Amino acid sequence: MAFNIKDYIRDVQDFPKEGVGFKDITPLLNNHDAMMSTVKELITLLGDKKVDRVVGMESRGFFFGTLLAAELGVGFVPVRKPGKLPFDKISQEYALEYGTDMLEMHADAIKPGELVLIHDDVLATGGTAEAVCKLVERLGGKIVQLNFLMELSFLHGREKLKGYDVQSIVSY
Ligand code: 5GP
Repeated sequence: MAFNIKDYIRDVQDFPKEGVGFKDITPLLNNHDAMMSTVKELITLLGDKKVDRVVGMESRGFFFGTLLAAELGVGFVPVRKPGKLPFDKISQEYALEYGTDMLEMHADAIKPGELVLIHDDVLATGGTAEAVCKLVERLGGKIVQLNFLMELSFLHGREKLKGYDVQSIVSY
């Protein structure tokens, strides 16, 4: 039977708080065939674009971001929540529904002109991805694509990412 990523994404109601429907990707990680089929689909979305670095955001962007980097034969760059990275870093603030949050990246992780693929598990409102684009571009990286396992299209995250190649395996 053909691989369908939705078969491995579990809906969990009222997580992390009441009224929220959370898309849980742990069943996808738990199944080797499904995990590797997912990597193949992400590579297909990338097409023949050249990539020097994959950037993944804490924490669920680390799983497939690292697998993608391994498959592409390039390095992986973690974007982390404040206070987690040990070396010289740059920070980017972004808006949440209530208040603001911040993301950080090591200042030497990307060299000017490098071609960057950004990966995360879910595109929701797009605030996280937009902040990561700013971090990459502040270091002089050129974003060739942002790819996601899934996109919650009713939250219109793409509107924050106009001008970029935005791809996802499935949309809800
Ligand atoms: P955004 O900034 O686009 O609103 O939110 C995207 C970030 O929140 C991603 O880093 C993603 O991991 C996380 N996220 C938001 N909703 C979900 C969800 O339903 N499932 C999972 N796995 N992550 C989510």
